[in-house]
Amino acid sequence: MDKKLVIAIDGFSSCGKSTVAKELAKQLGYTYIDSGAMYRAVTLYCIENGLIDDDGTVNEPVLEAVVSTIKIGFTYDADARVYKTWLNGQLVEDKIRTIGVSNKVSYVSKIGFVREQMVELQRQMGAEGGIVMDGRDIGTVVFPNADLKIFMTASVKVRAQRRYDELQAKGDNVTFDEVAANIEQRDYLDQHRDISPLRQADDAVVVDNSNLTREQQLTEIVRLVEQRQK
Ligand code: C5P
Repeated sequence: MDKKLVIAIDGFSSCGKSTVAKELAKQLGYTYIDSGAMYRAVTLYCIENGLIDDDGTVNEPVLEAVVSTIKIGFTYDADARVYKTWLNGQLVEDKIRTIGVSNKVSYVSKIGFVREQMVELQRQMGAEGGIVMDGRDIGTVVFPNADLKIFMTASVKVRAQRRYDELQAKGDNVTFDEVAANIEQRDYLDQHRDISPLRQADDAVVVDNSNLTREQQLTEIVRLVEQRQK
């Protein structure tokens, strides 16, 4: 039987990491774990409890006091082989994907005590292997010994169009410019934060999918997985 690998997919916002990670997990019979959902859930908690201002200032003393009591859970959908995100007993899968949360998440994810808590949860969930996890620091910090590290990117224009189409389809009333501005802002904040900034791991394979179809991209990554399994 093939070894159950740990596969880390990092990269910029909205470059299709989760789409390819889900497809890959399905094809391999692995579990897909969305680390961004955890930071989004904490951000939603901050918004709903008045712990974050419009300019992104977080009430850190209060958040630090409660962060260990925030229950982030996942229910497993065996058919889709994905987890759905819960926050303190509430299913928040849709709420955490709104532009309101996207606009604030990078201010929450840069906080050290938030990251410590999330990284611990991510390591617990991936301890058995047989996982595909996507995020910003999976190959650099969470699983530095991952069997395969992919660093994904695509042009801002391509990424904004994809995310805009996705939000429109869900009925979220946003403009293209708003989506593009959010992506650029998150890229900047995620790359320039002090703790675990977004960067390519030295041993990551770069996949630029600006001009690749989903199938081409998946084929390329499956080829890399097969190499690692040998
Ligand atoms: O992947 P997604 O776009 O849902 O991530 C939302 C945000 O969560 C990112 O912009 C980043 O600020 C944060 N994040 C992170 N580390 C991860 C995953 C996400 O800081 N491993």
